[in-house]
Amino acid sequence: MAGAAEFDLYRPSEEHDMLRDSVRSLAEAKIAPFAAEVDEEGRFPQEALDALVANDLHAVHVPESYGGAGADALATCIVIEEVARVCASSSLIPAVNKLGSLPVVLSGSEELKKKYLGPLAKGDAMFSYCLSEPDAGSDAAGMKTRAVRDGDYWVLNGVKRWITNAGVSDYYTVMAVTDPEKRSKGISAFVVEKGDEGVSFGAPEKKLGIKGSPTREVYFDNVRIPADRMIGEEGTGFATAMKTLDHTRITIAAQALGIAQGALDYAKGYVQERKQFGKPIGDFQGVQFMLADMAMKIEAARQLTYAAAAKSERVSAGGAHEDLTFFGAAAKCYASDAAMEVTTDAVQLLGGYGYTRDYPVERMMRDAKITQIYEGTNQVQRIVMARNLP
Ligand SMILES: Cc1cc2nc3c(=O)[nH]c(=O)nc-3n(C[C@H](O)[C@H](O)[C@H](O)COP(=O)(O)OP(=O)(O)OC[C@H]3O[C@@H](n4cnc5c(N)ncnc54)[C@H](O)[C@@H]3O)c2cc1C
Repeated sequence: MAGAAEFDLYRPSEEHDMLRDSVRSLAEAKIAPFAAEVDEEGRFPQEALDALVANDLHAVHVPESYGGAGADALATCIVIEEVARVCASSSLIPAVNKLGSLPVVLSGSEELKKKYLGPLAKGDAMFSYCLSEPDAGSDAAGMKTRAVRDGDYWVLNGVKRWITNAGVSDYYTVMAVTDPEKRSKGISAFVVEKGDEGVSFGAPEKKLGIKGSPTREVYFDNVRIPADRMIGEEGTGFATAMKTLDHTRITIAAQALGIAQGALDYAKGYVQERKQFGKPIGDFQGVQFMLADMAMKIEAARQLTYAAAAKSERVSAGGAHEDLTFFGAAAKCYASDAAMEVTTDAVQLLGGYGYTRDYPVERMMRDAKITQIYEGTNQVQRIVMARNLP
């Protein structure tokens, strides 16, 4: 049985509620007005980045000791959720800043933390995370990017694929093979800078959704970096990458939750306005039941996501890793499946209008799909859960 103290962690505090109110106001005023345009033009949401940086919400997870806001896991989720409620692409700014930099927070040397977390906290640099490759997706340990020691340097060669915010970010956490004999235990993590000689980027992918978030390949052509850019010990990179995902899958759950909430909120308003058969369609029980199911799924996803955030916070505070792996995977899987169902139902509730780009639910449905795919597909989440049953 969980004690009362543990249950307390599941519930957002007054401070969390205040944070939600302020992020919601900011998101509605400064991010929502550009969401459709960013999607239509497939351009980076610079307005969102500027607004988030001006309000210190772009990388809230960075510890205070490195100049950050020191927000806990739940507060980070609330920021991502509220931004995703109006623009999923923009929510990848705080989410991927956490994903890219968490390996440094979890396993980096003091020097690396000082050097890279400070500029991130200030809003002078963004961070990306480079694990996936063209031939190594779900089986990430099958990666081929190679790092070879050369005196006081490591030399990197290879291709990373699907890298969120590639080209925009200044810093990249890159997982590379340092000992091909040892498979996952022969993988190490490094910080690579955008300006390092030999780093270049592919053309932006043409995607179904999150069109405002650049997704590109990153190429490493004899990239020579100082040995102290290694994150943690040699051979620990894959373990660090997986530990990172245990924490950050919860942020993807929060993103899914926000997208779903945005779709429900829009549909709720629409059914009061739209009249058929002489009355608002919201008066029909068939429509009411759909809204009830949507709200129920969102609330269940929210509770699981916040419970997982509480586990993440416990681990960050030095507690046992225990059930975090299960909870991170379960929250991401459940919330993303819920987001796909809820956004599809929102399109249905708007009828033909929902199927057009004149209304935001079509974008939300396209955006929701990615949450079932990245940071491990939902089939992979189920493998992770099955291996870590509570
Ligand atoms: C827009 C976008 C942004 C991304 N951002 C990043 C990023 O910033 N950094 C990064 O490193 N990666 C990123 N990714 C990569 C993402 O994490 C991978 O696409 C994902 O892990 C799946 O890998 P894959 O695409 O190679 O699919 P595959 O691994 O080829 O999978 C194809 C299908 O097979 C299924 N499958 C595979 N293995 C199994 C199995 N054992 N059992 C059952 N089913 C299985 C999968 O679930 C999937 O349905 C991003 C991807 C996208 C599309």
